Amino acid sequence: MSENTPLLRVENLVKYYPVRTGIFSAGRRTVKAVNGISFTIDRGKTFGLVGESGCGKSTAGRAILNLVEPDRGAVSLAGRDIYNSETGLRLRGAAMHRARRDMQIIFQDPYASLDPRMSIGQAVAEGIEKHRLARGKGALELAGEVLEKCGIGRESFLRYPHEFSGGQRQRVGIARALALKPAFIVADEPIAALDVSVQAQILNLMSELQEDYDLTYLFISHDLGVVRYFCDSIGVMYLGRLVETGSRKHLFEEPVHPYTQALLSAVPVEKPWEKRNRIKLTGELPSPADLPRGCVFHTRCPHAGEICRTETPGEEQVREGHRVSCHRWRETGNFATGINI
Ligand code: ADP
Ligand code: MG
Repeated sequence: MSENTPLLRVENLVKYYPVRTGIFSAGRRTVKAVNGISFTIDRGKTFGLVGESGCGKSTAGRAILNLVEPDRGAVSLAGRDIYNSETGLRLRGAAMHRARRDMQIIFQDPYASLDPRMSIGQAVAEGIEKHRLARGKGALELAGEVLEKCGIGRESFLRYPHEFSGGQRQRVGIARALALKPAFIVADEPIAALDVSVQAQILNLMSELQEDYDLTYLFISHDLGVVRYFCDSIGVMYLGRLVETGSRKHLFEEPVHPYTQALLSAVPVEKPWEKRNRIKLTGELPSPADLPRGCVFHTRCPHAGEICRTETPGEEQVREGHRVSCHRWRETGNFATGINI
């Protein structure tokens, strides 16, 4: 891998779900959950994927990890293809098992992924054994070390998931992922279910671990306020598409997509007394099973014109590393967010 190879590269990733339209109807529709997204993450960095509930963030995370099989596109990790529909590459069996170790996931609700009958020590050791990093006593020893690193003391090793608070359980979830020494972790709304006071602790832990192990994160959140403090670059998703991607600074200070601008206009700022342009989105969020023609955002966009109703915008470069999919971004560009990074 050369110096410049991103740790993760996602190209035109597509994942559709076929769904039946009703109990009695034979009709089928397609939910276009992820509809052609592309981005890269450099090693040791965090990419924030943000957008409203249902826009396809979790599906994107799962498709990247091949936890659901993508329909099209390409994913590579450290320069090595994991999935590529052009070449027909799909990792299976031992190759997939090996790749899994390098790419882990942390969930919003670790309780759902922890076996209630297994002590947390066993739960962490189980993954270690599955991936043959150590066995028996060695695996338990390693599990203890990793749990300790994640802020769960040895005295808790034999306790069960229900005995822990939400924040502690998330520490266990992180330990389970970390125990496999992954290079890349998808964190799917890891703090969304936690008390505000605990959220910062979990983010701090994730930052520390990133420093210590050179981890690369895909951080999924519905909350732009959270990614602001945690992500190096950010992609804003709307109905299966990335509408704007850029560095944290550019996205927060100079967003050009009307959707990003609307989301940011609702984020709390340091000087609330300063006049800001509040943008209220009107209209309902369309269904990903019945996408609007043209630009998917045009039904709610304050700047939509004729072309937006008929033609899908391509990605354009605003500046190095800052991309947008909008026909009219040049006209909407001067937007004061009131946020300084
Ligand atoms: P987010 O994580 O941004 O809330 P999801 O990726 O969970 O969004 O969902 C994107 C869209 O795909 C939603 O409309 C959701 O209902 C649909 N979806 C997710 N998983 C499935 C599935 N297994 N089968 C059918 N539709 C699904
Ligand atoms: Mg989700």
